[in-house]
Amino acid sequence: MSRFTLPRDIYYGKGALENLKNLEGKKAVVVVGGGSMKKFGFLDTITDYLGQAGMKVRLIENVEPDPSVETVKRGAEIMREFGPDWIVSVGGGSPIDAAKAMWAFYEHPETTFEDLCKPFNFPKLRAKARFAAIPSTSGTATEVTAFSVITDYSKGIKYPLADFEITPDVAIVDPVLAETMPKTLTAHTGMDALTHAIEAYVSTLSGPFTDPLAIKAIQMVMTYLPSSYKGNKNSREQMHYAQCLAGMAFSNALLGIVHSMAHKTGAAFDTGHIPHGCANAIYLPYVIKFNAKTAARRYADIARAIGISGSDDNDLTEKLCRLISAYNAELGIPPTLAAFGIEEAEFKAKLSVIAANAVGDACTGSNPRAITPSEMEKLLCCCYYGSEVDF
Ligand code: FE
Repeated sequence: MSRFTLPRDIYYGKGALENLKNLEGKKAVVVVGGGSMKKFGFLDTITDYLGQAGMKVRLIENVEPDPSVETVKRGAEIMREFGPDWIVSVGGGSPIDAAKAMWAFYEHPETTFEDLCKPFNFPKLRAKARFAAIPSTSGTATEVTAFSVITDYSKGIKYPLADFEITPDVAIVDPVLAETMPKTLTAHTGMDALTHAIEAYVSTLSGPFTDPLAIKAIQMVMTYLPSSYKGNKNSREQMHYAQCLAGMAFSNALLGIVHSMAHKTGAAFDTGHIPHGCANAIYLPYVIKFNAKTAARRYADIARAIGISGSDDNDLTEKLCRLISAYNAELGIPPTLAAFGIEEAEFKAKLSVIAANAVGDACTGSNPRAITPSEMEKLLCCCYYGSEVDF
């Protein structure tokens, strides 16, 4: 038995933001990040539309990248004091993720962060407020997913929270907000979206409801990401939709070990912080080669769907890997961790701990091929040195 959950409404297209005028309620909090939404005038537009909807508005500003437990609790406190019936979150992944966790503490002050960290263990929400999410980057798709990532800085650990209770009620996917993304962010978030779709398609939890979303997202990313990177506005718009489709797929089919590795290596090295999408992009071809032992047929489906022809499943999978590596090169993403700049001594010193952590990551369970800590060490070495995956 499976479950497939999405927001009740997804508004998309240029000007979709205007749908905020039609939300019904008395009070809204707007949760936002560090300032780009304010700088480009979107925050004013949002508060204006909510005002036109007849709502009183209060802002929760300055949610940091990789939001902390403290930020979440501070936001929930403001919500309890103000009593909103709508939580409107806008920005890259971070403010939306933070707002999802604030929502849980707002509705259930007695809950603990430890409770929320247990997968699919959230209390019932929506007794007090509903949730709208407006993404300004084209990658995380948190506007349609059941996930939120919160960092406990006292422990130095990122916690992925997961529950369909935090799947937003309304997503507003307006490409105008993503037009201002810098080039590098466009590359990294775009490859994050591609990884979401590919991992969802080969996931052990994939199925007839998620497959078409994943395949369409892959086709769109392969078509539009290079020109979006170069600044083409139509391509930026298509990427904003593609990442959302990928999100609809992976929120329900979950992910795999590319994400396990990215989660556990992103902040692990003093010699370089690896941005999430960049880490995914580097690992993706190596993981496909590792997974091909059990999932070549699925990767071959993907290859055929994007117009690759080949003699058999393994040939198609091999060509898919080569194409992804070529995209990385075109997008200025290094082919290995060594080329990224992680120093060898630090990599070797931390390898066994990182490998064990990656195997224990929540995303490992739905990967199509099981992996042991020693295999994970070997795989990470391939990603570091660029060596062949032959095990
Ligand atoms: Fe991701």
